[in-house]
Amino acid sequence: MSVELTKKLSETHVCIVGAGLTGSLMAVFLARRGMKVTMLERRPDMRVETISAGRSINLNITRRGLRALERAGLQAEILKNSVPMMGRLMHARNGETTYQPYGRDETEFGNSVSRGELNKTLMTAAEKSGDVTIRFHQRVAHINLETNTLTIQNEVEKIRYEEQFDLIIGTDGSASQIRHCMIEASDYKCESEPLNYGYKELTILPLEGGKFALEKNVLHIWPRGLYMIIALPNFDGSFTCTLFLPYEPINGSPSFEKLNNERVVGEFFKVDFFDAYGSFDRPEETFFENPTGSMVTVTCDPWHFKDRVLLVGDAAHAIVPFFGQGANCAFEDLTVFEELLNEHVKDDKVNWLKLFKEFNKSRKPNADAIAQMAIENFIEMRDKVGQPEFLLQKAAEKVLEKNFPDKFASRYALVTFTHTPYEVCRDAGVVIDEIVGTLCKNIKSADELDLKRAEQLIDEKLAPLLEGRVRDSVISST
Ligand SMILES: Cc1cc2nc3c(=O)[nH]c(=O)nc-3n(C[C@H](O)[C@H](O)[C@H](O)COP(=O)(O)OP(=O)(O)OC[C@H]3O[C@@H](n4cnc5c(N)ncnc54)[C@H](O)[C@@H]3O)c2cc1C
Repeated sequence: MSVELTKKLSETHVCIVGAGLTGSLMAVFLARRGMKVTMLERRPDMRVETISAGRSINLNITRRGLRALERAGLQAEILKNSVPMMGRLMHARNGETTYQPYGRDETEFGNSVSRGELNKTLMTAAEKSGDVTIRFHQRVAHINLETNTLTIQNEVEKIRYEEQFDLIIGTDGSASQIRHCMIEASDYKCESEPLNYGYKELTILPLEGGKFALEKNVLHIWPRGLYMIIALPNFDGSFTCTLFLPYEPINGSPSFEKLNNERVVGEFFKVDFFDAYGSFDRPEETFFENPTGSMVTVTCDPWHFKDRVLLVGDAAHAIVPFFGQGANCAFEDLTVFEELLNEHVKDDKVNWLKLFKEFNKSRKPNADAIAQMAIENFIEMRDKVGQPEFLLQKAAEKVLEKNFPDKFASRYALVTFTHTPYEVCRDAGVVIDEIVGTLCKNIKSADELDLKRAEQLIDEKLAPLLEGRVRDSVISST
């Protein structure tokens, strides 16, 4: 069966598997073109039943994510209940704090957004179009790639049934069943690299009157070498804290294996995070009540099966969460997908194979690049952010951003506050490290930077790389 140029968009029945962030926003975009969309979601409807958002109660949504939301007309609604994060605040073991602003000025910041509220808003927007139906409690168990038929498990009635669609879009997350079936059916290239770390969520409740117990407009980090806690503010005055810890000890470090009773857990938090310990909500109990989350990097190629099945978001490229870009990258996928769809429609028909191939070609190298940078950021956040040498380099980057606003941006700023392809950001990051490393040799403070030499190095090494490739930034090569 092929739908290539045979059916009008308005007659094409699409199934989106997974009504998470990617699937719901994809539905909004497809419905806009008049396509009939059925979404299958294994969980209950979170707008009706109280369910855990699954993992990470809040997300840092930045420029790439915001652009997709803007295209969907939803940016203002989402930002209404977000908390701006202007920088990161590091908490050293001795309780001392160091602040690093994220951007070059107050226009560049992250947005802490509730994952649940974002997902609910997207689902409602999709349904409002009138062309999208979301069926909850429906778990896709199998896809027959030859006939485009799904085997679906109704989790309430405990029955299995089959249904055929013209197009199937797998937005079913990092453990995608659609991807698994593609692997089983052919010699499909796919690698799954689990991290040897897990994560656990804790909460810091608001003070009386809804006040924040810690500084509000920052992302807090307690870096401890081989493990760390981060905390993002929520709109209700609470913080969601995430402990990242190895499953098994590394060089004698604490680990999930070792933290096996409330007494040991209590000691761990009291000693290693003493300045936050009093603020955590029942840390010893919640440590055992909350699930331990796992993290994985998934790389596969291609992201589609012929002209009938496409993977998008985490299903195609799950990454570890340390750059705060997983959802941002998935949303950027959708911006690109919608642009391509608009380009490819002719007489209400689309050559899906051509579109899928172009989408794959445009997004895959960028997804690979952010996957690599996310792993690098893990080491940076966990380990380096507490080191004086690293702090000097970050301070030097800020001085360069201030002095050469039209020529220099840090890798973090390029990734977070511009639409520059991730591939370019990764390559620029290598050059930026070289430049900053050279300039910081033999100095103790960023005030001592040799700005003349800095400009020379930027012009020689960074400018040619960024020339014409920076998107939506104050950098002049835009
Ligand atoms: C701890 C942590 C912190 C993070 N922080 C950030 C951040 O700050 N910023 C950021 O941009 N990203 C962040 N991310 C990444 C972000 O969460 C993901 O990139 C994003 O959720 C991907 O969305 P998705 O819709 O592709 O997948 P998912 O969110 O996993 O959604 C998949 C959906 O499919 C459904 N589903 C799964 N299997 C089936 C099936 N067989 N049948 C039917 N339905 C199915 C699921 O129930 C779910 O609703 C973080 C991730 C983690 C783990």
